[in-house]
Amino acid sequence: TEQAPSRLPEPRIAASVVPSTNSHLVIDSVTKTFGTQAVLKGVNLSVAKGGTTAIVGPSGSGKTTLLRLIAGFEHPETGTIELNRTLVAGDGEWVPAHKRHIGYVAQDGALFPHLTVGQNVAFGLDAAKLPNGRRAVGDRVSELLEMVSLDPAMARRRPHQLSGGQQQRVALARALAREPELMLLDEPFSALDAGLRVATRRAVAKVLNKAGVTTILVTHDQAEALSFADQVAVMRGGKLAQIGNPFVVYTRPADRATAEFLGDAV
Ligand code: ADP
Repeated sequence: TEQAPSRLPEPRIAASVVPSTNSHLVIDSVTKTFGTQAVLKGVNLSVAKGGTTAIVGPSGSGKTTLLRLIAGFEHPETGTIELNRTLVAGDGEWVPAHKRHIGYVAQDGALFPHLTVGQNVAFGLDAAKLPNGRRAVGDRVSELLEMVSLDPAMARRRPHQLSGGQQQRVALARALAREPELMLLDEPFSALDAGLRVATRRAVAKVLNKAGVTTILVTHDQAEALSFADQVAVMRGGKLAQIGNPFVVYTRPADRATAEFLGDAV
């Protein structure tokens, strides 16, 4: 067999998790079955505080289900999920979604169509935590819109008056309003055309990075995974086939199926 170049680390197969004191999220041996279909078959994943992980893999491999379990929208069948070294699911523990300090942005953003942009963003705000009630809510909405590079004057518009990219930024501002510690992004840019996609991705990465928010991004887009993440996890058939830094995963895929998938994924 060929000798690996000495400077490259060996690909790390996700056989077990290696939690550290710096771990924000630790998923240990999580399984999930819908009806008779085993969708997650023992997932192990550790995400560092402030880190960015991209989850890539074919459609139907269980990526969205994994995010929904982390968010607290689903219960694991077996296995455990820890946030900040506190058990939030499994072993008889359950912390509900709204107490996990997690933001979630889905593919279509899913803004409330009957509310203005400002009301959508304010929906994620806890007015009780702000000093002067309504006035402070308006100020905070403006600030959040500016954070995602939108004109605060857009607050008065309705979602349908905005472009797809603008709507995704509003969805992100709404998620950021709750000051999440962990942001879950499920193919948030896939509905956008190529140019807008890159610009939106850069804006989002900048905001999350600056706020020090731990981020997990599900994506089909190799370039997106490479530019966004410091850890790439390859999902296949309900398991994580490989976890590593993007360079290692792309240059040294752990097996042929991963290599073929990554080769096809652009
Ligand atoms: P991915 O995000 O990788 O495309 P998903 O997690 O969305 O994969 O889906 C994995 C599998 O689980 C699919 O076969 C899907 O049909 C099934 N699935 C997901 N959610 C449910 C559900 N609530 N009920 C039944 N089956 C589901």
